[in-house]
Amino acid sequence: MAAPLPLAPDSADPTFTELLAARPALSMHAHDGLLMDEVPLARIAAEFGTPTWVYSAGTLRRRYRALKAALDAAGLDASIHYATKANDNQAVLRVLRAEGAGADIVSAGELRATMAAGIPAGVTVFSGVGKTPGEIRFALEAGIFQINAESAEEIEVISAIAAGLGLRAPVSLRVNPDVDARTHAKITTGRAENKFGIAFEDAHALYARMAALPGIRPIGIATHIGSQITDGMSAYRAAYARLAEMVRGLRAHGLPVERVDCGGGLGIPYRDEIAPTPEALAGAIKATLGGLGVPVMLEPGRWLVGPAGVLLSAVVLQKQGAARRFLVLDAAMNDLVRPAMYEAWHGILPVSPLAHVAPLSPADVVGPVCESGDTFAKGRVLPAMAPGDLVAFLDAGAYGAVMSSTYNARPLAAEVLVDGARAALVRVRQTHEDLLAHQRLPEWFTP
Ligand SMILES: *Cc1c(COP(=O)(O)O)cnc(C)c1O
Repeated sequence: MAAPLPLAPDSADPTFTELLAARPALSMHAHDGLLMDEVPLARIAAEFGTPTWVYSAGTLRRRYRALKAALDAAGLDASIHYATKANDNQAVLRVLRAEGAGADIVSAGELRATMAAGIPAGVTVFSGVGKTPGEIRFALEAGIFQINAESAEEIEVISAIAAGLGLRAPVSLRVNPDVDARTHAKITTGRAENKFGIAFEDAHALYARMAALPGIRPIGIATHIGSQITDGMSAYRAAYARLAEMVRGLRAHGLPVERVDCGGGLGIPYRDEIAPTPEALAGAIKATLGGLGVPVMLEPGRWLVGPAGVLLSAVVLQKQGAARRFLVLDAAMNDLVRPAMYEAWHGILPVSPLAHVAPLSPADVVGPVCESGDTFAKGRVLPAMAPGDLVAFLDAGAYGAVMSSTYNARPLAAEVLVDGARAALVRVRQTHEDLLAHQRLPEWFTP
């Protein structure tokens, strides 16, 4: 260990104790260190290596049930379609399916993943601005519950494909309500300038057009205004009020609306954000759409799975630079890209119980990738750490493993599911051989 470091300066960051208190899946054991549910994270690192994603089945279930209970308590006829892109691990999908979740998918690959996990296409919504004809055909043949159309051009394509199959595709129109969800620019989707959905002014005419097409059965309208929404309910309310207005307008013209899809986006507290509750969301839906007598759908991703996962990583070395201390980890931006991509803040907890009573000082927490952007945190208050010491990145269950790459020829990390006192590998760590396996040299290549 390095020489004792000076005491922590003032920091606005939550303390270790505060981070732990807000995360029921995690606890500190005096001997075993940080636990996820009943499993010491140190044991997972010893058994499966690092970096490794670890997910809590209990937390997934608890969160799904809390969301369902809030919707039920508001008296809503609501179905939950988990946004698969947040975490498409088969074990995660199966835990949520066992709770009753349907799916929201954005590609044929995700439809294959959800079907493989036992989620029927008949409870799955297909979203996305660039569905290919092949993907649309595959979804229709599989019996997709609903396609959310995002443009006039796409509606014509869906109709032609469905008519060719002798079907009428169940299509909802994704409306862009032009509200500001006041989240990070890269994850806001409901402004007029975003690529998503159909402008509110054009939606009515397009809905009528859908009703006139041979291959389309218009079933409703949908929206999704952005992700990591923590700014209260005002954006949701504004968006849903516009949807309600549109439903009334469509009905006044004799156009049927069977259901309304409210999208996802509910935020979680990563640092000290006051995130809205599922009860608040249910209340906003009830207040705006409740009087229409239509079932509503939700497409939550992050809220369900984010807090259920951590990224477990080991310290490679602690480097004392001229001006600052660096903790160099074996995880990098290719594993967890959110800090580099969205300036996202993730809690970082040492796994060892000793680290929780050691003196603290600021450190820059970085990965080994050859980019300055490979920085997880700057000036984070942490104890001195030695090679092999473990840390857990909190709230890494959503947009974590799914966004990984193999940049710097770094194999994709392993994934582990914890359920009570049990832990098992749910995705094998990639090997260097795997990285090379799909490369080919041209026959004509002579070095
Ligand atoms: C990404 C996405 C979601 C899920 O967003 P979260 O912020 O993870 O809840 C839901 N619906 C659509 C259409 C999406 O693109």
